[in-house]
Amino acid sequence: MSAQIISGTQLAAELREEVAQRTQALIAQGITPGLAVILIGDDPASSVYVRNKVAACEKAGLHSVHETLPSETTQEALLARIQALNEDPSIHGILVQLPLPDHIDTHKVIEAISPEKDVDGFHVINAGMLMTGTPLFKPCTPYGVMKMLEAHHVERRGAVACIVGASNIVGKPMAMLLLADGATVTICNSKTRDLAAHTRAADILVVAVGRPNMITGDMIKPGAVVIDVGINRLPNGKLCGDVDFESASQVAGAITPVPGGVGPMTIAMLLVNTLEAAERSAQNKV
Ligand code: NDP
Repeated sequence: MSAQIISGTQLAAELREEVAQRTQALIAQGITPGLAVILIGDDPASSVYVRNKVAACEKAGLHSVHETLPSETTQEALLARIQALNEDPSIHGILVQLPLPDHIDTHKVIEAISPEKDVDGFHVINAGMLMTGTPLFKPCTPYGVMKMLEAHHVERRGAVACIVGASNIVGKPMAMLLLADGATVTICNSKTRDLAAHTRAADILVVAVGRPNMITGDMIKPGAVVIDVGINRLPNGKLCGDVDFESASQVAGAITPVPGGVGPMTIAMLLVNTLEAAERSAQNKV
């Protein structure tokens, strides 16, 4: 069997076009959606992510503020900057690019962002609201995965879903979103015994670990939908996912590629979240 390819590139382009149109409608009402992205230090991968996010904003007509602060920036200075952005009416979304330097408490920084501007959806209030079913923002990567499943008419209700990886930013919110749609969800982590027994039972398999090609075709149920969130750079410079695409695509019914799968969707959903924050703020002003 050769799996259907679930491309994120095309779907993300469609979503970005929709964001651009809704942004113009909001601008006509006198509100330009604004995103502030803060990067601490000069980590090359983070710099590329931030540049891509800012470029996507500008292309869709959103206002963006990109601030790169030196790696020795103190926690107090960063918190003060976030507070200023919380109070800035031209900014509807605030994103602090992770990871942060060791001397800064990531939890404190995330909690300093106003929940109404927390477009990453990482604040405990948004995480709690996601768990109870009424999130202001869904974290961008799992939200993007849900959009891909919807676009490909993948049935979630009653499906067995397995998520490999249990981080706060991908694995756990992914589980909440699939559960909300009626899937029966298992979350695996580094201590899971017999990982393959779990992955092989899944109709929907989402992998977000950060280990190149760790899921091979023999770990996949024939016909399953496989979503590869992982982004890994190999020694030869090439990008690859957590799923061994060659063997997995022989077994899966549908599969996302890396690159060109979940990655573009993450950025598209950041734009959606920023736009929706601005739309909510416009409604509150009426
Ligand atoms: P984290 O490092 O925060 O979490 C990794 C998770 O994988 C942990 O829960 C860990 O378990 C689990 N894990 C580690 N080893 C194993 C194993 N052998 N078997 C099962 N589970 C294991 O990573 P992130 O969630 O931040 O990111 C995961 C991947 O997704 C990375 O490659 C990252 O680059 C990529 N990513 C891609 C995005 C995109 O837009 N496409 C966006 C965000 C991330 P434990 O909890 O026990 O430590």
